[in-house]
Amino acid sequence: MTAEATAAETAARPGEPLVVLDHVDKHFGSLHVLQDIELTVNRGEVVVVIGPSGSGKSTLCRTINRLETIDDGSITLDGEPLPAEGKALARLRAEVGMVFQSFNLFAHKTILENVTLGPTKVRGMKKAEADKLAKELLDRVGVGHQADKYPAQLSGGQQQRVAIARALAMQPKVMLFDEPTSALDPEMIKEVLDVMVDLAKQGMTMVVVTHEMGFARTAADRVVFMADGAIVEENTPEEFFTNPQSARAQDFLGKIL
Ligand code: ADP
Ligand code: MG
Repeated sequence: MTAEATAAETAARPGEPLVVLDHVDKHFGSLHVLQDIELTVNRGEVVVVIGPSGSGKSTLCRTINRLETIDDGSITLDGEPLPAEGKALARLRAEVGMVFQSFNLFAHKTILENVTLGPTKVRGMKKAEADKLAKELLDRVGVGHQADKYPAQLSGGQQQRVAIARALAMQPKVMLFDEPTSALDPEMIKEVLDVMVDLAKQGMTMVVVTHEMGFARTAADRVVFMADGAIVEENTPEEFFTNPQSARAQDFLGKIL
């Protein structure tokens, strides 16, 4: 199945719960980093997570594909509980695409190889098929002409778009973005956000941690505001930005807007 087909399938069944966090708790030693998190991300939905530094946004993202374990509660992906380990975990993890602040491309592999590695090694896709898929995806994020170069030859914005293509190549059901533009020079932020907006329009289910309030306003179906490890407020972007309910959110918005 191509990435387009996955998006089309997703778009065809919008609204069903795809990622469900139920009473999720996590501690780092004495720090209660995730406190009774209840969050449902529906198919085709774009959820933007915002909040002060240290509030647990990255940890939340990382629990969704079990880069972090949880102490209590459960996480369900497309109806299947995320197990602690084993083959089922590997299979479910492959359905969650992740894009980090640091692009983490393999420096000694070409752009094309960076994108084909997952499909060939994890999905067992034939090289020719993986090459074709990778080229389609690289074209889609606007770096198709860079396929034979190495990461260091690309700008930060281009590298981040490759990282998005690499995640999409695994044909994920949901894409997680953790501050994908925070490490970029200002002039490169838009080219990455534009790719994310396109992805959202094509029906991809997305969880996006970002400080880009313009993106949150225009692309989010829902804004989740976190503070001190808890979801303090959850609303449409219109409501959240014009009429924040909690003192924490009002204070946060007062500082950044
Ligand atoms: P955010 O992404 O909102 O800035 P994080 O999820 O990165 O927040 O971190 C939340 C809190 O958990 C912070 O206080 C951070 O220092 C702490 N933290 C994050 N990762 C670890 C870890 N591996 N071990 C101990 N504390 C951690
Ligand atoms: Mg973070």
